[in-house]
Amino acid sequence: MSKTILITGAAGFLGSHLCDRFIAQGFEVIGMDNFITGDHKNIKHLLAIPNFKLIEHDVTEFVNVQGHLDYILHFASPASPIDYLKIPIQTLKVGSLGTHNLLGLAKAKKARILIASTSEVYGDPLVHPQTEAYYGNVNTIGPRGVYDEAKRFQESITMAYHRFHGLETRIVRIFNTYGPRMRLNDGRVIPAFMGQALRGEDLTVFGDGTQTRSFCYVDDQIEGIYRLLFSDYAYPINIGNPHEISIKDFAEEIVKLTSTKQEIVYKPLPVDDPMQRQPDITLARKILNWEPKVSREDGMKKTFAYFKGLSKEELFKSEHKDFTNHIKR
Ligand code: NAD
Ligand code: UDP
Repeated sequence: MSKTILITGAAGFLGSHLCDRFIAQGFEVIGMDNFITGDHKNIKHLLAIPNFKLIEHDVTEFVNVQGHLDYILHFASPASPIDYLKIPIQTLKVGSLGTHNLLGLAKAKKARILIASTSEVYGDPLVHPQTEAYYGNVNTIGPRGVYDEAKRFQESITMAYHRFHGLETRIVRIFNTYGPRMRLNDGRVIPAFMGQALRGEDLTVFGDGTQTRSFCYVDDQIEGIYRLLFSDYAYPINIGNPHEISIKDFAEEIVKLTSTKQEIVYKPLPVDDPMQRQPDITLARKILNWEPKVSREDGMKKTFAYFKGLSKEELFKSEHKDFTNHIKR
């Protein structure tokens, strides 16, 4: 008997890759999405597969799924700073009400649930690299607070269901992950730089570019999540690539990779933009026997090939507005 898994946020970047992985492993996959930041294109290839079913639904409303469920992966949530600045209330609701609904569903179905948390729970971290033991430095009332606090609440309610109801829960703290199927205009730095290079625009570095990030290729991330789901570990665990780089150096790498003739230009740093971010993955190495395998060079080449393959229409369709810099401290 094959196992059944519900994946929320299935039409998004990570959700669609998770659907692929679980279909490939022989699961019955139910994808759920309201398409607020997702794209039908990401799951079009799955619609004809008999063991994939799509339910269009907003998970902040009561979630009803017929039949048995073995596992739930809760990945529905806007995930890029411009998305959660555009839809702050929905972001808070999907992390809180949405998570509550899915925990209730998991309890009713006696299913194991894994929720997608984030390195943003560490805020603008004062501890570097970030270990799971660090409590974070989050501005609750800043523009990013809607995402960070929703995710922190999500972790708390998940642990409460684990402790109070004995629910089988897993929490992944995902660090910046990239790859094919990211939305070109979601404002995150990799689609932003690659889109700019392909359109012949200057690359916009925010601030002086000394802030750092550590980028994980999607295949590595999916493997880490897969291993976590089948582990016995109920506490939060970092999954990300510890290879850290400043945004300025990263922009230079993208200039080389894309052979763009454009310049790097500097724009104001968005409010509460974390100055440093690097996962400590000691725990993931020990508990999941996991570490990233794909170098940034290889991952970026694959990602650029994906963006290059998009149509001119998609490349120039840009709802991307510079929201971040309009929010005053
Ligand atoms: P994404 O925007 O591509 O995907 C999110 C999906 O959730 C979209 O398809 C969207 O339509 C759907 N969604 C949002 N609200 C919903 C609702 N109320 N009901 C049903 N569906 C809803 O983002 P992503 O990068 O794939 O991120 C997926 C998850 O991983 C998110 O929870 C995000 O917080 C987490 N995460 C991602 C990263 C990353 O680097 N990609 C880092 C940290 C955490
Ligand atoms: N960034 C940038 N130019 C852009 C988009 C983003 O310099 O056009 C910076 C942003 O200020 C941040 C880093 O790149 O310091 C990563 O931003 P992203 O939105 O990808 O993710 P975050 O880690 O901030 O959630």
